[in-house]
Order: sequence, then structure tokens, then C-alpha cells
Amino acid sequence: MSTANREPARPAAGRAGIKKELPDRFKDYRHVWVFIELERGQVHPVSFELLGEGRKLADKLGVQLAGVVLGPPGEATWYAVAEAFAYGADLVYIAEAPLLADYRNEPFTKVMTDLVDTHKPEILLLGATTLGRDLAGSVATTLQTGLTADCTELDVDTDGSLAATRPTFGGSLLCTIYTLNYRPQMATVRARVMPMPQRTDKPVGRIIQHKVSLAEDEIVTKVLGFLPDSQSAKANLAYADVVVAGGLGLGAAENLQLVKNLARAIGAEHGCSRPLVQKGWMPADRQIGQTGKTIRPKLYIAAGISGAIQHRVGVEGADLIVAINTDPTAPIFDFAHLGIVTDAIRFLPALTEAFTRRLSPHSRDKLAS
Ligand SMILES: Cc1cc2nc3c(=O)[nH]c(=O)nc-3n(C[C@H](O)[C@H](O)[C@H](O)COP(=O)(O)OP(=O)(O)OC[C@H]3O[C@@H](n4cnc5c(N)ncnc54)[C@H](O)[C@@H]3O)c2cc1C
Repeated sequence: MSTANREPARPAAGRAGIKKELPDRFKDYRHVWVFIELERGQVHPVSFELLGEGRKLADKLGVQLAGVVLGPPGEATWYAVAEAFAYGADLVYIAEAPLLADYRNEPFTKVMTDLVDTHKPEILLLGATTLGRDLAGSVATTLQTGLTADCTELDVDTDGSLAATRPTFGGSLLCTIYTLNYRPQMATVRARVMPMPQRTDKPVGRIIQHKVSLAEDEIVTKVLGFLPDSQSAKANLAYADVVVAGGLGLGAAENLQLVKNLARAIGAEHGCSRPLVQKGWMPADRQIGQTGKTIRPKLYIAAGISGAIQHRVGVEGADLIVAINTDPTAPIFDFAHLGIVTDAIRFLPALTEAFTRRLSPHSRDKLAS
């Protein structure tokens, strides 16, 4: 689903009468906020993607774009503030406290809802990461407002309402959801669904510091230690420049080695369609699509994948899609840039060998001479 050249969202059929006049208590809610997700000192890139999207919404509404940084006192938190400005925020709200060092639902929800109650944003966007999903749900529940999860498009309607579009009915349809009579209007968006905006050297702007009125002994959960998951850290599909994936057309688990060989030869990440995860042929963090990862590589090679809509929504942000499929009528050829109608099991080794020869240092010398 491209976000480029979109028509403005039209009011949904039958909306007349659903929207009442906004209750007085919400009338001074203004501005677009983006939660800047910091985990173990790192800003999640989805926060910058959301600042890019938030910028468009704020400009359409004629309001300001703010970043919200919650973290422990120290350099990493202030670095996140500076980065929020570099990716387009007009102002940043910062809450610093040792109890915000590691993510816990209770203090983060308390601080975020306090911030919302004090400064009243009209729209609040969060990344649909594990942390963002957890936080968004409890913040929306505490504030008794609506939340549209895993959006694929965001826009503002003719009356200024947030039009949040997401897949529905198992991904076969798209629906646009409005939170008409409550504020803030909340949405989460997965990594790589929105394009990364240009980073600028914009100087730091207005910073509003928020005092955290919560003590450690008021929080039930404690973080005793951190055990990194070395397995899942390996797949970096969402941010890979080149991805090779295999589908059911490969016929057997052992044929996935052909996908891995090609990926290794060209320095790519490897992934798969959902049935392969369901069969236990690949781990879940390699799944691409609506219920897996959204990817935005420069090159995506799909071997033996039919191109069902649930797979398509996860890959169509790729610059170049190359599909290998025996069936010339496979849906993947409707959106692939290059289609190769052939048996992937025979073609993948030949392609790997051709790339290996082309990319080996020895061949490079030969080509140069
Ligand atoms: C709620 C929901 C969420 C879902 N989420 C996802 C998701 O995140 N990701 C996802 O991928 N799917 C998802 N799906 C499943 C999706 O609908 C499809 O079933 C799935 O993508 C099909 O996988 P496939 O293309 O590998 O298999 P198939 O649809 O079986 O396609 C196999 C393809 O391989 C071709 N082929 C056969 N032999 C060869 C050969 N030797 N060489 C080359 N080509 C060959 C065939 O022509 C066919 O086009 C979801 C479904 C639901 C209901």
C-alpha cells in the first residue's frame, strides 16, 4: 500500500450522525504527538518514520508536531530528544526519571497519560513494536479513547478527524477507522510501513520538561535483569536492503537452503511466507507480511510465493520486486517489477552461482582489467 499520491480520505459511508459535536472537555486538544521509543539507549527507527508521517498530518491540520521522550536521566535520553528534532519535531516533551530506565507498563502509562492530560494532544502515534503495542493499549484504556492498531495509512479527513486505515477480515479488506468523539485519536504503525523521512541538521527547538510524580515503591513490577534474545536479534528483515524469501512453491524444508545460499551470496537477509512458519520450516521472526515483518528493501526476491494480499502488504514498499514462480497467473506478477516464470528449485542455484561469480573479488579484478 503506497502512501504516496494518496487521495485525502473521504468520510466513511454512514458517518453522518455518528459524529456529534466534540464534548467541551476535548475542544482544546491540539497538535500531533509521536512517542519516541527508547529501549536500552536506542531510539527505534519506527519513531522517525512516524515523525515523517506526523509532519504531514500536523501540516494539514496547521498544528505543531511534538516528540515525547520518556527515559532515565542521561545522555541517551537527551540524544533521543535531539534526534526527534532532526527528524522534524517542532517541540519535544521529555520526562526523565530513573524509574523510566527499563520499559514497564505501569510507570510509562502513568507518565504518558499525565502528559496527555496536561498538554492535550489531538493525535498520538506510537510504533506497533512490542513495547509500543503494550503502551498504546493501556494508555488508550486509561484515557478511555479509541486506538487503531497496525495502521497502513494515516490521513486527516475534511473535518480534521484522523482517518486511520488498517487491514481487516484477515487482511483481505482495508477499513478506515475514526475516533470521532474522544481525544486523543490514537494509532500504532508497524516499522517500515511509512517511509523514513530525511534527517536534517535542524537545531534543537522548544523542550518542555515534565516532572514525574511517581516513586519506585509505588510500582508493582521490578526489572531484575536483562537477558538478550540472541536468536531473534539475528533477523533484521525490516531494515535490510536486500531480502530473499521462499514460499510453499519450494516444496520441502530442505529447499530453503537454496534461498539462504542466494541470500548469503548477495549479502541479503532471508525470509519466508507464513505457511513455512506454520510448518516449522522457518522461525516466526523470518515471516514477511501482514502478520510478520513489513520490509522496505531496495531489492526483494520472492521464490515460490504466490503473492497473497497478506504477503503483498508486507513487501510492496520494496523498490524492486523480483518474483520467481512457475505459474504465470500467480498474483505476485501483478505487483512484481520483474517476473521470472520458471522452477525456483532449478533457477535459484543458477542465480546464486551467477551472483557468486560476478561478485567474487577475482571476477571483479577481471572485470576491471
Ligand atoms: C489473518 C491472516 C494473516 C496472514 N498473514 C500472512 C503473512 O504475514 N505472510 C504471508 O506470507 N502470508 C500470510 N497469510 C497467508 C496468505 O493468505 C497465503 O496463504 C500465503 O502467503 C501463501 O503462501 P505461499 O505463497 O508461500 O504459498 P502458496 O499460496 O501455496 O503459493 C505457492 C506458489 O509457488 C508457486 N510454485 C509452485 N512450485 C514452484 C516452483 N517449483 N518454483 C517456483 N514457484 C513455484 C505456485 O505457483 C504458487 O504461486 C495470512 C493469512 C491470514 C488469513
